[in-house]
Amino acid sequence: MTGDRKQDDLPLSPEEEAEAAQHAQRQAAEGDASMKMFAGVRAQAAGPVTPVRLAPDDRFAFRCHRGVACWNACCHGADVTLTPHDILRLSRRLGIRPAELLERHTVPAVHEPSDMPVAKLKMAGEDGKGACGFMVAEGCSVYSDRPLTCRYYPLGLVSHKLKDSPAKEDFHFLVKEAHCQGHAETATQSVAEFRSEQAVAEYEEVNRGWVDILMKLASWKTLGGPMGKTPSIQARQMFFMVSTDVDRFRRFVFETRFLATYDIDRAAMAQIKVDDEALLRLGFDWLKNVLFNEPTVALKRDVLQGAVARARAGAGGV
Ligand code: SF4
Ligand code: SF4
Repeated sequence: MTGDRKQDDLPLSPEEEAEAAQHAQRQAAEGDASMKMFAGVRAQAAGPVTPVRLAPDDRFAFRCHRGVACWNACCHGADVTLTPHDILRLSRRLGIRPAELLERHTVPAVHEPSDMPVAKLKMAGEDGKGACGFMVAEGCSVYSDRPLTCRYYPLGLVSHKLKDSPAKEDFHFLVKEAHCQGHAETATQSVAEFRSEQAVAEYEEVNRGWVDILMKLASWKTLGGPMGKTPSIQARQMFFMVSTDVDRFRRFVFETRFLATYDIDRAAMAQIKVDDEALLRLGFDWLKNVLFNEPTVALKRDVLQGAVARARAGAGGV
């Protein structure tokens, strides 16, 4: 006989029962989700952008260069949500830490599909319709570290996930704003070629957990929130801390009861002390655990046993 166990053969342990019940609750609370994630349209652009779905091999005519009459027009009043990886790249580029970048170059905002707090790139002017602080006459002064939304432009990205599918599906759409002369150019490229030229894959990899969380919350928002509740103020604050300020999250991990609560091995602990991307991955896993009860971070055995005992006592068990 192998070590495999059929579910009918043996009773579940209390831990397995609790996990199975949580899994069923999570499944019941989710719906299909479709979220427009990145579309760097100007805030003053007239009318909504109508997404036309583009496959990786679809070609589109576009070229941006200094000779266009609209040079730098798209860097005024742009709607640029900064992803966690954008914040790390821009901070390193400027030789500052994320807290200073947030203070100097961003404004707080709400990501509407999910209702979660995010940081957007600050545009000049009281109405936010002025120039981006990184724009100079020659173009973008942080070009090789520009945010993901700027890299995608003039494409937008939609993430789509069906309730019963384990994986989400992304597709692009073309953003055609009236002021952008790049669409009148004859040069064409496929979506895949454009993505490769813009080097977006690294950003998508680092941001993966963050996008997963926003997707799930967007899905729950349409259903009234997880189990009928919206995330608490504290949960929103934790989300903002992890996604915008790795230094603050690192202090949270090493200077509170975090390591007494979660089972993080020595090698991982050594890595997150010095590796911001590794810390972000832990942060997203932790948020998935806190927000959705996903088994992405293991609780220490004594903490887990205490939680199960409290749950059983609350349910009238022994
Ligand atoms: S970061 Fe660069 S590309 Fe993006 S809006 Fe600012 S100046 Fe333009
Ligand atoms: S062509 Fe489009 S992307 Fe290029 S500068 Fe003009 S508005 Fe911006």
